[in-house]
Amino acid sequence: MNSLLLTGGRVIDPANRLDVSTDLLIVDGKIAAVGATAAAKAPADAERMDVNGLVVCPGLIDLHVHLREPGQTAKETIATGTAAAARGGFTSIVCMPNTAPAVDTAGTVALIHERASHLGLVNVFVAGAITKNIAGEELAPIGSLKRAGVVAITDDGHCVQNHALMRHALEYARMFDLPVFDHCQDYSFVTDGVMHEGYWSTVLGLRGWPAAGEELIVARNILLAELTGAHVHCQHLSAAGSVRLLREARKRGVPVSGEACPHHFTLTDAAVAGGEKFWSADGRGIFGFESNPSGFPSWPAYDTNFKMNPPLRSARDREAVLDGLADGTIEIICSDHAPHCDYEKEVEFDYAPFGITGLETELALSLMQLYHTQRLNLSDLIAKFTVAPARLLRLNKGTLGVGMDADVTLFDPDREWLFDKGNTSSKSFNSPFYGWPLKGGPVATIVGGRKAWIPAEIPA
Ligand SMILES: [Zn+2]
Repeated sequence: MNSLLLTGGRVIDPANRLDVSTDLLIVDGKIAAVGATAAAKAPADAERMDVNGLVVCPGLIDLHVHLREPGQTAKETIATGTAAAARGGFTSIVCMPNTAPAVDTAGTVALIHERASHLGLVNVFVAGAITKNIAGEELAPIGSLKRAGVVAITDDGHCVQNHALMRHALEYARMFDLPVFDHCQDYSFVTDGVMHEGYWSTVLGLRGWPAAGEELIVARNILLAELTGAHVHCQHLSAAGSVRLLREARKRGVPVSGEACPHHFTLTDAAVAGGEKFWSADGRGIFGFESNPSGFPSWPAYDTNFKMNPPLRSARDREAVLDGLADGTIEIICSDHAPHCDYEKEVEFDYAPFGITGLETELALSLMQLYHTQRLNLSDLIAKFTVAPARLLRLNKGTLGVGMDADVTLFDPDREWLFDKGNTSSKSFNSPFYGWPLKGGPVATIVGGRKAWIPAEIPA
């Protein structure tokens, strides 16, 4: 028997409304006991870990990750992407289908499952494509993708423009009981925009990606969810109008949900003008900046690590996304971890690919912007990484109930650390947050009772 007793941690399990300092026992990969009786139930040879001072919570789930395998393994692989996930405190991830080939057949789903079972440090769930080759023209075989085990469908990176085709996708998805994720971008409106359309795009002479380009598709998705009864989940929401539309629709009971990424609720479009401009314009919106302005790094204008899709938006949008997270309109936080090679990003802003890595800074930035600023308590914040994504994906995960898989994350909400390349397990380094002083972060990641990531200084 393989068993591990975690003693004296602050056990927070939002699904069971539990927040108490106590013990947790893992036996043979499952949660065996939580509470005062856990120690008594532990086998004599159980390994013990004193986790006093740490939070013990259900393993974190990130439902928006680009693992880049198959086909783009210069950027990331299943091995390196899941290592980054484990280092970030995540025990389960959902990988996006915009690989090469795209995940639009049962065979590609099987390939990823097979590789992940050998090489993955964390649980890998697969999202299938909505349309063949993510081209937005013809539906992918949604039924056979479901049989192959996908947990959702999405054309992420792209957006189905034809509303009738999207309607048919939703009708099929409903038949197969699959949530549909959507990267909300109206192509005719956004055209070749590379950053948020506003003051800074004008100053910098870069083509604008207007907030309405996202809001139009959020509105479309709400109408189609209402029409078909299928669940639409709007990915990486960045704009105030999107949050307002989602709030109103959810109040009316429309089956829609949304997610937000730390870069959108931390940074703003001023960051594209360089560090100095960003800190003087919008730095006060970042936890810790007022007490330690000189501790935060600077960067040049047109730094392509600040280019992502959707783009960083205004301070007002950042505030609206934070409000949406605080009032429950946005239930889920994810990274949109999107690794790219140095040589791809080291070009002019217009030509660089969209996207940044995010798994390793996600928990810290969320703690800073939501918990340390007192917008959310720890339990409500943890819910956005655990029970909420598990419910959307219908995964039997996201809680510490007895008998559940022993996916457990240990983190210290107050640990102060500096993010640098030494903290990176990803194959790529396209993060805007290197050099940032962070507060709070993962300490150990346990997947199915096995230590997926545990740094040397933690007693083992
Ligand atoms: Zn996307």
